[in-house]
Amino acid sequence: MSADVARRIPVTLIPGDGTGPECIQAARRIVDASGAPIDWEVFEAGAKVFKKGLSSGVPPETMDSITRTRVALKGPLETPIGFGEKSANVTLRKLFETYSNVRPVRELPGVTTPYSGRGIDLVVVRENVEDLYAGIEYMQTPGVAQALKLISFKGSERIARFAFEYARSEGRTKVACATKANILKFSEGMLKRAFEQVASDYPEIEPWHVIVDNAAHQLVKRPEQFEVLVMTNMNGDILSDLTSALVGGLGFAASANIGGEAAIFEAVHGSAPKYAGKNVINPTAVILSAVMMLRHLGLFDEAGAIEHAVFVTLESGVLTGDVLGYDRGTPTTEYTDTIIGNLGRRTETWSVRDVKPLQLPKLDPAPDYVKATSRAVVGLDVFVETPLTAAELGASLMDLTRDTRLSLVMISSRGTKVFPPTGAMTETGDHFRCRFIIRENPGDLPDEDVHQLLARISREHRWMHIEKLQEFDGELGFTRDQGD
Ligand code: NAP
Repeated sequence: MSADVARRIPVTLIPGDGTGPECIQAARRIVDASGAPIDWEVFEAGAKVFKKGLSSGVPPETMDSITRTRVALKGPLETPIGFGEKSANVTLRKLFETYSNVRPVRELPGVTTPYSGRGIDLVVVRENVEDLYAGIEYMQTPGVAQALKLISFKGSERIARFAFEYARSEGRTKVACATKANILKFSEGMLKRAFEQVASDYPEIEPWHVIVDNAAHQLVKRPEQFEVLVMTNMNGDILSDLTSALVGGLGFAASANIGGEAAIFEAVHGSAPKYAGKNVINPTAVILSAVMMLRHLGLFDEAGAIEHAVFVTLESGVLTGDVLGYDRGTPTTEYTDTIIGNLGRRTETWSVRDVKPLQLPKLDPAPDYVKATSRAVVGLDVFVETPLTAAELGASLMDLTRDTRLSLVMISSRGTKVFPPTGAMTETGDHFRCRFIIRENPGDLPDEDVHQLLARISREHRWMHIEKLQEFDGELGFTRDQGD
């Protein structure tokens, strides 16, 4: 036990579903055997809770425990279909505002992959509470769906700073920011801008930006060039599954959900129900998640000891069925016993990182984190459902809105301008975005003008969505369309 830690530390333990309890039991036994002064508070979440009719999947007593302990180690939770549609995992991440999801992968002894010998050792830092995972979706017409990708500057700055701090805590020298800012200039571009702004506070770390599709390519081609990658939620979700496959698969992929108030540690994998109760599952991902948890709690000696013991075990060829084949793999309990038996032994051939305490970024809590000195509403996008052609719709809208303050300047179909005609061969459906701009004296468009415009359009057309076109500090707060 670390000399300065005499206290007992309460941690919420959620066994989870499917193979979760077997993995959690393995991790708990190893943590206890390491001498880490953890007092486990065992609580439920997931399938059993959904079946009792609680649609969040997380009962109040589990929430209370995490609120008290601020730290949880959890097994994977199923999202059963037919017992409420929410994911208990997403509920936990959002309720405790664990804004960063940290997914380290590294080459492991004894686990042979096409990349063996290349020295992969990287961390994906994924923004965990914003982006498309807000799940704000609408059917705009019977045949057209919309999902809102909401990205805040504050959330972007927070995750960018977190990535640099994480790199600093592990003595890493490069942080890559992978975005789709070339296409999504505002939303993905927000992370790129925040990343570039905060990079100067970390002069010892080399920042670089890479377009996310190229990041996928580079990760497969030359993964060893990456140390830390920071991404928005969905990109990070997808690419972190890719990175786990580079080093042996989900059985080895640990993760941490860290926020300012609480942290939840879990494997990347799900409940793998087909292996439940068979004593064959690879518990390493949960064990390494527990190692991350111990470091979070400042128990660096215990964390290092467990990591060494895992490496010594793997080096000795004691491997689970996912690596060797399920007819030949070491059973989960025996694998766990071997790691416990190896506590105190150190790997000579594999390095274990010297990790320093992570400094979480502290941002101004003001809700209006980004302030504009000037702002104006300069127009309106009105989304219309109609069987008309773009030319017919354009003529009708110009006629209907002739004496309003707003003038129709463009109609687009799925982001491509179709009116006034451009000569392009764009196929249109029944869903159009119609852009109106103030005719003269641009200033702040009063809502009365918006109401008047919508009343006019409603005379002949079905509109289902509007978006105010705004300028902040003289900069357009909306994008132009392809061909505009
Ligand atoms: P999964 O449980 O991760 O399993 C997919 C496959 O990954 C397994 O069939 C197995 O591959 C491999 N695998 C997963 N964990 C492994 C381990 N510890 N050791 C070795 N191999 C492992 O994904 P899923 O089947 O899509 O999801 C099952 C349930 O888990 C769903 O209800 C889902 O909602 C939930 N889930 C929860 C979380 C979470 O709690 N954070 C995350 C993801 C999914 P082979 O078949 O090739 O052996």
